[in-house]
Amino acid sequence: MKSWNKLSAGLSFLAVCVSAAALSFSSEAWAAQKKALKCESGVGDLIVAGAGEQEEISLLGGHVVGIDPGHQGSWVDMSEQEPNGPGSSEYKAKCTTGTTGRFTGVPEYELNLDISLALRDELVSRGYQVIMTREDNDAAISNAERARKVSEEGGEIYVRIHANGSDDTSVKGALGMSPSPENPYVSYLYKDSYRLTECILNQYCEATGFQNLGIQYYDNMTGINWSSVPVTILEMGFMTNEAEDYAMQDTQTQEKMVQGIADGIDSYFAAQSGQ
Ligand SMILES: [Zn+2]
Repeated sequence: MKSWNKLSAGLSFLAVCVSAAALSFSSEAWAAQKKALKCESGVGDLIVAGAGEQEEISLLGGHVVGIDPGHQGSWVDMSEQEPNGPGSSEYKAKCTTGTTGRFTGVPEYELNLDISLALRDELVSRGYQVIMTREDNDAAISNAERARKVSEEGGEIYVRIHANGSDDTSVKGALGMSPSPENPYVSYLYKDSYRLTECILNQYCEATGFQNLGIQYYDNMTGINWSSVPVTILEMGFMTNEAEDYAMQDTQTQEKMVQGIADGIDSYFAAQSGQ
């Protein structure tokens, strides 16, 4: 992990530059920015050998990102069961309803959708293509169906947006979830999923100032086990903590949340290209 920590530190700087670069899409600006990145990031040559100008410009933009706003409206019946992974004999509910803001009363599915729609717009403005698993709270789409939709429509990564809840109202902070190396279905996605989780979680916490609770492995989640591209869950904060519940409804904080996640996605693809 040591070398990745170093890389990650370099990428924090990188992502700041890249965000600025992605907004202005002229090739001159990009070329200048590219030079700066190559000189100062220490990450290495970001450009794929032999790539033309068009490919250089679409180095970050042009990638396809799947976004899943976790859960759905409480009125949508998702209690039917589906296999926990391809070929699994273990079955779980197609989807659950999630938690609720203890202080704001806002349901998690609503917060997840608000942030996901803003993230979609931000990523599109940075040149990405985005696949949404749902764009309203009425959609009845299971966790397995969501994962498959992203893969089938050409998603390169699968970013699942959630918020947390706890009986202990003092518990706060953001965390990431990722499949372990021993996952029976997607162990081959472990490394990239971990890096994706790390990129997004670190940038998110940096942008929002939320405490970074680190990365947890989960091998029993249908939405992870059915993925066929690197997959992560961001638990953005605790809706049962007063400060975070209110913060996650604050317009300015939401803007930082979205920027942080988008910066993390930029970092992930920049690191992929730099390998
Ligand atoms: Zn959730």
